[in-house]
Amino acid sequence: MHILLTGAAGFLGSHLTNRLIAEGHDVIGLDNFITGNKDNLAHLAGNPHFSFIRHDVSNFIFVPGEIDYVLHFASPASPNPASPLGYPNLPIQTLKAGALGTHNSLGVARAYGAKFLLASTSEIYGDPLEHPQKETYRGNVDPTGTRSVYDEAKRFAEALTMAYHRFHHIDTHIVRIFNTYGPRMRLDDGRVVPNFLQQALRGEPLTIYGDGMQTRSFCYVDDLIEGIYRLMLSDYHEPVNIGNPNEISICEFADLVNELTGNQAGTIIKMAKRLGNDPQRRQPDITRAKTILNWEPKVNFREGLLATLPYFKQKMAL
Ligand code: NAD
Ligand code: UDP
Repeated sequence: MHILLTGAAGFLGSHLTNRLIAEGHDVIGLDNFITGNKDNLAHLAGNPHFSFIRHDVSNFIFVPGEIDYVLHFASPASPNPASPLGYPNLPIQTLKAGALGTHNSLGVARAYGAKFLLASTSEIYGDPLEHPQKETYRGNVDPTGTRSVYDEAKRFAEALTMAYHRFHHIDTHIVRIFNTYGPRMRLDDGRVVPNFLQQALRGEPLTIYGDGMQTRSFCYVDDLIEGIYRLMLSDYHEPVNIGNPNEISICEFADLVNELTGNQAGTIIKMAKRLGNDPQRRQPDITRAKTILNWEPKVNFREGLLATLPYFKQKMAL
């Protein structure tokens, strides 16, 4: 297939590009580098199965040639206001990438008669009142809170995707991605995995926001990409959670990182203010992915972190 992938220069986009090319497809990557990095695509220079268009998805997209599939991944994706590249600091860009960018990407799919997959998020569940989160849960989002620019943009993107499916009969898919980590994560995005790994590798205490009892469920990137690839090729149109159900508190995560890195500052945990609208618990119910896609994650957190550490060491020039 000829595949248009928006957000190709990002963490997930670059891994997905590799997988698609390995499966024999041709990929046209599209990105404006607002949070992405050229280094993520450097290994594809000269590859005849990869081409690149520098473009903002919020503007009309024109792609020469044929397209069989559109994957829409372009969006700022970090929740941390301390990071200049977090979506609270790119609020309008985040809303536009989710709303106008999804509209333009669906427009390409419609014009070329292509299939479409939207990268949605567990954030559409907000601070969930149902646990674990099934796809049928409708969420608990504050529409004007600090996270709303991301949550509501993705909720709108899902609604638009289903409208194009129902009204224009486009073959669409929606993946709700839960926290994912691995090599090529941005070091400066303020998320808990890059923050803790870097602090630990520098021998510093890990900064926990709030009491650290809030939970997340972290998925290794290779597992996520496998789930997305299976969903892409499926004939299923409702949203599907892809994530690792292994739930861990942020305190337990801090202990694990300190153990794996041998960080001597391990017992000192600096308490800082918890972020506004920070979800208290998050864990995917992956029954749907297991049933429809015969997918479940294979990499446990310990193995995944050990596979991620060399990338951080290299980037930090340790
Ligand atoms: P990332 O920031 O590494 O990648 C996003 C890419 O989109 C970047 O290369 C950025 O430059 C590009 N982009 C942003 N706005 C753009 C625009 N207007 N035009 C063109 N390109 C634009 O983030 P990521 O973690 O790889 O996330 C990729 C997608 O997956 C996002 O849609 C995100 O919402 C979703 N997602 C990621 C996670 C996760 O844990 N990483 C979780 C849930 C959802
Ligand atoms: N967090 C933390 N210390 C950090 C960064 C994040 O305690 O240095 C917490 C954050 O408040 C949240 C959790 O870790 O409760 C996961 O945050 P992340 O930014 O990775 O992503 P989120 O799941 O909130 O989108």
